[in-house]
Amino acid sequence: MSGKLDIIKDLFHTIGFDRAALYPLVSVFIVSHADCDHLTDSAEQWIPTKYRGHKNLRDVQGPLLALPWKGYWRPLGERRIKVKPLVFSEIKGQPNRLHCVWIEITYWYREHEVKGLLIGDLDVQDVKYIHKTAIARKADFIVLPSYGGVTTHGAEQPEQLAELVEEVAREIRDKGLVTVARPHPVKAEWADINLDIVAPQLCAAESL
Ligand SMILES: [Zn+2]
Repeated sequence: MSGKLDIIKDLFHTIGFDRAALYPLVSVFIVSHADCDHLTDSAEQWIPTKYRGHKNLRDVQGPLLALPWKGYWRPLGERRIKVKPLVFSEIKGQPNRLHCVWIEITYWYREHEVKGLLIGDLDVQDVKYIHKTAIARKADFIVLPSYGGVTTHGAEQPEQLAELVEEVAREIRDKGLVTVARPHPVKAEWADINLDIVAPQLCAAESL
């Protein structure tokens, strides 16, 4: 195992994101926000401290860790993971709202290190911040939600959000970043890696 792509794949065999991973038995998930379709009910989950007290979290059976804004890291044998929820001032273009918290992850495996940006869900108005932030944070990879048609999330027509995400994913890929898709709920043609949904959702979604 040596290339960046291999290390990123190893990461998603070790830890999941928003119910998605590359290995069905991952026991820890990072979670971008407290919407029903991003949470599961039994595995250990790490969610930004901002969502502590959210009503959906009352139904979660497994351990919940509130991720502090200053970041959190955990050794996992030969591996090490650091996650840091980004505050608005760390996002290029300085938004004053986003659909969910964006999370930076750094992963070490032996002498290898990769850094990525995890984005679990988007509104149309959030898309403009992605490219510059990924570059500014010196990310090696980015996880983006892969939409089918959505009529919410600020979309003017059902395909708009999927098209905007595809466009930015291709731009970022041209800059040399690895693109990873989290199905929301469809797989992506633009992605280098498509994650699989591996854990059942906590509750019926109110907002897809
Ligand atoms: Zn959401």
